[in-house]
Formats: sequence, C-alpha cells, structure tokens
Amino acid sequence: MMAKLIVISGPSGAGKSTVVREILSTCRQPICLSVSATTRPPRPGEIDGESYHFLTLEQFAAYRERGEFLECAEVFGRGDWYGTLRQPVQASLAEGRHVILEIDVAGAKAVMAEFPGVLSVFIHPGSTAELERRLRGRNTESDASIARRLAVAAEELTAVGLYQHVIVNHHVGQTVEQICRLIEQGEEHCTKN
Ligand code: ADP
Ligand code: 5GP
Repeated sequence: MMAKLIVISGPSGAGKSTVVREILSTCRQPICLSVSATTRPPRPGEIDGESYHFLTLEQFAAYRERGEFLECAEVFGRGDWYGTLRQPVQASLAEGRHVILEIDVAGAKAVMAEFPGVLSVFIHPGSTAELERRLRGRNTESDASIARRLAVAAEELTAVGLYQHVIVNHHVGQTVEQICRLIEQGEEHCTKN
C-alpha cells in the first residue's frame, strides 16, 4: 500500500497531541509524526528535535526563504510561527512510512492544495466549554493564551467542512481506533498535485 500523508487539525486543546501519541504506538503499519519547526518557546518537558524544532524568528525566516517548508503559518496571531519541513516528510513517504502532520487549518488548506489525495481529519472537542476545560486542565497556558486559543478555536471550528472526516474526541481510545482504521484502509490517498 502506498504511504499516506495524513493531516490532523482541530482547535488547541481538542486532544490532538494525546491522540497522535496513541496512534503512533498502536497503528499496525509504519508511521511517523512530522516534527514541525516553531518560533514559540518550549514548554517544560518539551525536547528540541522531538516535540518541535525550536527556531529563532531569524532561523525560521531563513528556512522559509530557502523554500524548505511544505507549509508554514503564523498561528494564534501573536508572532509565533509554525511550519512543516518538506524534506523529512518526503523522505518518510518515499521509505513507505505514513506521515502525520498535526497542523492548523491554514496549514492544512495549503497541504490539501498541494496534495489533493491527503487523508484529512478534524478533531472536534465536542463543545467550547469542554475545550476550555481541557485547556485549563493541561496547565500549560496563561489566561491570556487560553482566551486567544478559544477565539482562534471558534474560527477553526467553522472550517470542519474542509476535512474528509470529523471526529468528536469524547474518548481517546475510540478516536484513536477510528483514525487507525482510516489509515489502514487500502485506499490510495497521497497523490501529489
Ligand atoms: P492539543 O494537542 O489538541 O492542543 P492535548 O492533546 O494537549 O490537545 O490535550 C489537551 C488536554 O485535554 C490534555 O490535558 C489531555 O490530557 C486532555 N484530553 C485529550 N483528549 C481528551 C479526551 N478525549 N477526554 C478528556 N480529556 C482529554
Ligand atoms: P502548540 O503551540 O499548542 O504546540 O501548537 C499549537 C497549534 O499549532 C496547533 O493548533 C497545531 O495544529 C499548530 N501547528 C503545529 N505545528 C504546525 C505546523 O507545522 N504548521 C502549521 N500550520 N500549524 C502547526
């Protein structure tokens, strides 16, 4: 089976990282997560090169100018940039590994335009109240950051129609199972434009 490019989006706090971590450990086929580059500072426990490639704004701009990003976007509108590096994604697909991109809606749109066969999944938190509960429960964001993420979330939730699959993440196990099933289905997904 051809390796698939998989885009997973959803508002911050919906449970994407939790779900993706489980997919990587339970999917029965070779699969990896694309490690994005970002200019935001690491959170406690995040490791450079594993969680993200943490770059300065200048480094990020240089990568961008060299065309090394498959897509990149300023997320949350306060100067933090995030981007998917082209080379590792192409190398993994060429080696027969499915690749997951955990990226925002703007980035997903860019990837869908370049790869019309991408498998796209939107992870929905169920409700805004639940989203806020999860963001607060994670204990990683200030009140201002939570407010900004909730405002962006309202906008992102209007984009669910762009995705082939919308999954309400009530239970991590069930969400993971549904996505693994989509990945393991035989359809050919990854066609380059
Ligand atoms: P994201 O990567 O989308 O920002 P996280 O994976 O960091 O979200 O999850 C946000 C918080 O919600 C975490 O504390 C996580 O443990 C919790 N969480 C994730 N999925 C669920 C779920 N289905 N039910 C309840 N809590 C969840
Ligand atoms: P966080 O700061 O919580 O790690 O990530 C926040 C947001 O950035 C998430 O909504 C995630 O989807 C998005 N994101 C992470 N990496 C990328 C990327 O490489 N490109 C784009 N466009 N968005 C990303």
